[in-house]
Amino acid sequence: MKQRGCGSSDMKSLYDVIIIGGGPAGMAAAIEATKNGAESVLILERNDELGGILPQCIHNGFGSILFKKDLPGPFYAQNFIDETTSLEVEILLNTSVLDITTSLKVYATNSREGYMEFQARAIVLAMGCRERTRSQVRIPGSRPAGVFTAGTVQRLVNIEGLMPGKEFVILGSGDIGMIMARRLTLEGAKVKKVLEIMPHLTGLRRNYVQCLEDFHIPLELSTTIKRVIGEKRVEAIETVKVNESLEAIDGTEEMMPCDTLLLSVGLIPENELSKKAGVEMDPLTGGPIVNEQMATSVEGIFAAGNVVTIYDLADYVSKAGFTAGKNAALYAREKSLQNQAFIKLIPEKDIRLIVPQKIGRDASEFLLELRSSRSIEKKTAIEIVEEGHVIQSFPQNYIRPAEMITLKIKMPEISGKISPQTDFLSIRIRE
Ligand SMILES: Cc1cc2nc3c(=O)[nH]c(=O)nc-3n(C[C@H](O)[C@H](O)[C@H](O)COP(=O)(O)OP(=O)(O)OC[C@H]3O[C@@H](n4cnc5c(N)ncnc54)[C@H](O)[C@@H]3O)c2cc1C
Repeated sequence: MKQRGCGSSDMKSLYDVIIIGGGPAGMAAAIEATKNGAESVLILERNDELGGILPQCIHNGFGSILFKKDLPGPFYAQNFIDETTSLEVEILLNTSVLDITTSLKVYATNSREGYMEFQARAIVLAMGCRERTRSQVRIPGSRPAGVFTAGTVQRLVNIEGLMPGKEFVILGSGDIGMIMARRLTLEGAKVKKVLEIMPHLTGLRRNYVQCLEDFHIPLELSTTIKRVIGEKRVEAIETVKVNESLEAIDGTEEMMPCDTLLLSVGLIPENELSKKAGVEMDPLTGGPIVNEQMATSVEGIFAAGNVVTIYDLADYVSKAGFTAGKNAALYAREKSLQNQAFIKLIPEKDIRLIVPQKIGRDASEFLLELRSSRSIEKKTAIEIVEEGHVIQSFPQNYIRPAEMITLKIKMPEISGKISPQTDFLSIRIRE
């Protein structure tokens, strides 16, 4: 691995592709950028190692698509670390990017070189996401110690070797919460219950079976926290049932003694830098609007991974990184990719979000990722529609909000069916 700082004599100030974030999306982008002719590629990563969130994800469940193996997170990441560091990719660790501009300048800092300024021919945003905290979900009650986000506890237990409590209640049935319920149980803690405000699971079903059912950890749906109780340390949680409008139902309160509350209440794409650069955002995903090349609205800025939308599988994050890295390299060399006519993809009722949100008329093959807003536990289909006329239909055995649906779209197969005047297509679930 080449580690360079601004002070070193061989440090460049101009790079073909600069990648912000060295997680699975950023490393995949670096690999494909290099393979597609980028002569200088720089990864800027604020952590002291590559891998993003994966070094702390020591459970298996990674790699089933790319490696046809069921790998733990660090093993999955190591495959990419090995390849990235074997290529001519420069990596600056412990380095935070502070700002980027529409003219593709990147400002960063670290404790060795101080403030640094780079010019890129193309940028890939791969900053991942962060967890929602107690203040963002507004949990009432006192403010004692013992309230943690699930990712923080995952880091404490899996990396630092620290156990932050004995008796846990977990709020949120997202994947991190369920994975941590199992992890804490294996480490000797008591997980009393997982509470979920929605009437359905919000994480993957496989995680429910492997992490809660197999360990006899109860899940209570349509239930939330009315109050956190405790002075110095959490002493109990008061729970309450909610109705269909998610309002508390009086008389259903229950007291649950515990010393730790773990929050698994959602992830937010990390886009402060993207917004500063004027990248157009999608309120549905919380990330940049991208086309099938993972190009954003700002010429020369590409994006991939959880910064674009919250993915459930790292394999698809890496695939998006490959696409972004390849197209960033081609843009850096030719600057010819982004001036094309686009068709917008519009999510209809029951489709919560779509990535990419627009596609070039001359696109070839690409992955369309989407999430539904409700469960359909029977055979149905996702349809691509032009003004009520079905262009293509993708059969589904079931549809669940927690599970991302990935469709391979071969544009040459359908472009003949799309009228030349169309500037948008709808994506819907067949009723
Ligand atoms: C707890 C947990 C469990 C999961 N379990 C599974 C699973 O079982 N199977 C599966 O396939 N997927 C799983 N996932 C999903 C998968 O891990 C993620 O989708 C994937 O890691 C996202 O990759 P990324 O590169 O987009 O982001 P990240 O891995 O978060 O990497 C982003 C990187 O950007 C860096 N960064 C951010 N801002 C800056 C800045 N300003 N300057 C410099 N660097 C910056 C961060 O330090 C970080 O290293 C899990 C995710 C989590 C959080």
